[in-house]
Amino acid sequence: MTETASFTVRRAGNAPVPSLPPFGQFIGGAFIASSSASTVDVENPATGEVLTQVPAGTVEDVDAAVAAAVTAKAGWAAKTPKDRAAVLLRIADIIEGNRDLLETLEAANTGKPAAVAEDDISSAIDTFRFSAGAARAFTTPGAGDYAENHTSVILREPVGVVGVITPWNYPLLMAAWKIAPILAAGNAMVLKPSEQTPLATLKLAELIASEVPSGVLNIVTGPGPVVGNRISEHPDVDLVAITGSVGSGQKVAASAASTVKRVHLELGGKAPVVVFDDADLEAAAKGVRAGGFWNGGQECGAATRVLVHESVAKKFIEVLVREVQEITIGAPGAEGDAEIGSMISSAHYDRVLAALEDIRKDGLTIAVGGNAIDGPGYFIEPTVVTNVPAGATIASTEIFGPVVSVETFSTDEEAVTRANETVYGLAASVWTTDSARSFSIPRQLDFGTVWVNSHLVIANEMPWGGFKGSGYGRDLSIYALEDFSRTKHVMYNHG
Ligand code: NAD
Repeated sequence: MTETASFTVRRAGNAPVPSLPPFGQFIGGAFIASSSASTVDVENPATGEVLTQVPAGTVEDVDAAVAAAVTAKAGWAAKTPKDRAAVLLRIADIIEGNRDLLETLEAANTGKPAAVAEDDISSAIDTFRFSAGAARAFTTPGAGDYAENHTSVILREPVGVVGVITPWNYPLLMAAWKIAPILAAGNAMVLKPSEQTPLATLKLAELIASEVPSGVLNIVTGPGPVVGNRISEHPDVDLVAITGSVGSGQKVAASAASTVKRVHLELGGKAPVVVFDDADLEAAAKGVRAGGFWNGGQECGAATRVLVHESVAKKFIEVLVREVQEITIGAPGAEGDAEIGSMISSAHYDRVLAALEDIRKDGLTIAVGGNAIDGPGYFIEPTVVTNVPAGATIASTEIFGPVVSVETFSTDEEAVTRANETVYGLAASVWTTDSARSFSIPRQLDFGTVWVNSHLVIANEMPWGGFKGSGYGRDLSIYALEDFSRTKHVMYNHG
């Protein structure tokens, strides 16, 4: 354990060696060789060590995976919801039975605290269980007569083959958010994990290979512009879903346009946290500590942009700085774990440090943190930036690191206008003890999720997804099953 100016830093020690997945592309129910011998290094960002390599997949690999999915889709679509639900429940049990292994692998590949990896795996299990139940409870409007002598029936059908592209911040959880509803709705799929964090997703494929019919779930590793792009443009992929940055989402949507396939986008965010003068400031500061620094701030819904009423700003900042000073930083599981882990990669660490440099150049106040921590690993101190003026870059761009900014406002109208002044529309929170505000303010905020006196609490029963630059489409809940299926109107003339 070492002390930086104000933080406790815990180092790796003897981290457990993760159980690695087989080498190859998971196509047609087995790990097979890629069409290319090129590989991508997969790193442990908490130590900078290379853990292993995975194939740098190719267009031919994607084509083989899509062909396997096309072959498998009719058989899977023909299964009853009850039978598909049984498979999803077995997957949930398998994840639960291999919880330690998956948590260790996920933490080693992302540098996230063991507690975050544990939460990810628990949530993934629940996503499969929810989707199993939802598959059976999913209904369409009843048959009805809307034209003389004609009876209308709505069939709910799978879309067909769904392509999925996932990010590095919650690798297995983001895969689960897609695999569970996509399979529940009766589709076959091809998934590309982030090139930086493919290990837990590949391990899951290995663990469930005998439960899922061959070709229903295929995984192809490799770079976004090659593998992700081919999935997006492939004529036999009926829908493509990406969780990632706005730029990648735009590229996927552009590639998908050539075949007019459906697109499902879960993109970036910059969640405002609006703290009114009547708020419980201790609770709000604890909420920002939990919601702003969870997963090292590498979180699309992170509470990274506080807008606090000017009359309570001084007090709120005092409490927040005290909370943030208590945050421990370190490698997963080291000396009893830490609250925040490493940045995902050296490149991302450099990006966050460059943002901190810009903050200094702009003359903003770094109230706590603001520095890199000496290696190995890519650690950065949890940081609070104050004196942030309206329209500052830090208030509108996604840093995706442990950096929270604080701005002030004078009136409710100003709070709402400023909170909405961002290209993103994923999530926001409102902190108030005034019941009228707790109803009126969320309605005026342009975000897909608005918490009141809370932040970053997610339930599998409720939809997750954004507006504006954060994309469209919904993960979780019955709405995800809707997104990954299609309706067909069949009309019977009985005249
Ligand atoms: P990223 O956009 O760099 O990568 C995401 C995925 O897209 C990766 O698998 C990558 O290989 C792939 N990709 C890159 N270029 C591509 C292309 N041209 N065609 C097809 N695929 C391509 O994002 P990231 O850095 O892995 O993840 C962080 C981002 O994800 C942040 O912006 C974050 O806000 C967002 N995110 C959003 C949600 C949500 O639910 N809205 C959840 C998690 C992360």
